[in-house]
Amino acid sequence: MEIDYFMLLEIGIGDAYGAGFEFSPYEKIKAHNSLTSYQSHELGIPAGNYTDDTQMSLAISELLIDKTDWNRQNIANKFVQCFKRDPREGYSKGFYYFLKSIKDGREFLEKINPESTRNGAAMRAAPLGIIKDIDDLLAMSEIQASLTHNTEIGIKSSQAVSLAAHFFVYNIGSKNVLFDFIGEYTNFKWNNKWEGEVACCGEETVNALLTVLDQSNSLKDVLINSVAFGGDVDTVAAVGLGIANLSSEFEKELPNFLFNDLENNTFGREYLKEVGSQLLSLKA
Ligand SMILES: [Mg+2]
Repeated sequence: MEIDYFMLLEIGIGDAYGAGFEFSPYEKIKAHNSLTSYQSHELGIPAGNYTDDTQMSLAISELLIDKTDWNRQNIANKFVQCFKRDPREGYSKGFYYFLKSIKDGREFLEKINPESTRNGAAMRAAPLGIIKDIDDLLAMSEIQASLTHNTEIGIKSSQAVSLAAHFFVYNIGSKNVLFDFIGEYTNFKWNNKWEGEVACCGEETVNALLTVLDQSNSLKDVLINSVAFGGDVDTVAAVGLGIANLSSEFEKELPNFLFNDLENNTFGREYLKEVGSQLLSLKA
């Protein structure tokens, strides 16, 4: 199977594949990271279900599609709306209970502690790659990050992910210059030789992502290599697959179960395809 949908479905597939292995013991990764089935997660995520990475990427995509004014209040409203309409596991515990406890975007902004350096702003930033003007992209990526991750690494990790998607959407160059492109526009020294477990940290997540994109030549490798790190691998796999599928440099063949066994409730597979096609229509 080749997936030719735009970004959201691929994020959902990578997320659901990685979610079964998030912070799992290496024995589980060794035994099951072979692209033969989705894995359930011990913490209550059923096999084939996506998590926060996809839900928050949907939020950003819907804001872009609706041409919503890009301000903190509107973005907060959408984050809350997307969670409340389809609450799901996979968020960090703290953020999950925070979202449960508030009633709207205003309360979100009043009560959030926005100083996180974790990867929550990066995990939802890929859809912003559709923005053609790089200054706009950087500014919009910063604003969305600032709601929850108003820190240097929170903002730069978000911009790095948006830029990586942009690089392939607009065919800027071959993937071996992606690393320099992102370093230049974020003015930050990333590492694309990442090894070992990926913490929930924005910097490590981008490093793992850039390593996977550099070292993989197929979508299969993107998934397997993302999970093989161990740690917060669903974010790396989600963003990695969403971005890699935009580039002709990755061999596209994937096993059918990734598509067929992906959840397909109201906001599942068919919804991801629909939002992806609407997002693609924004390409300048
Ligand atoms: Mg996740």
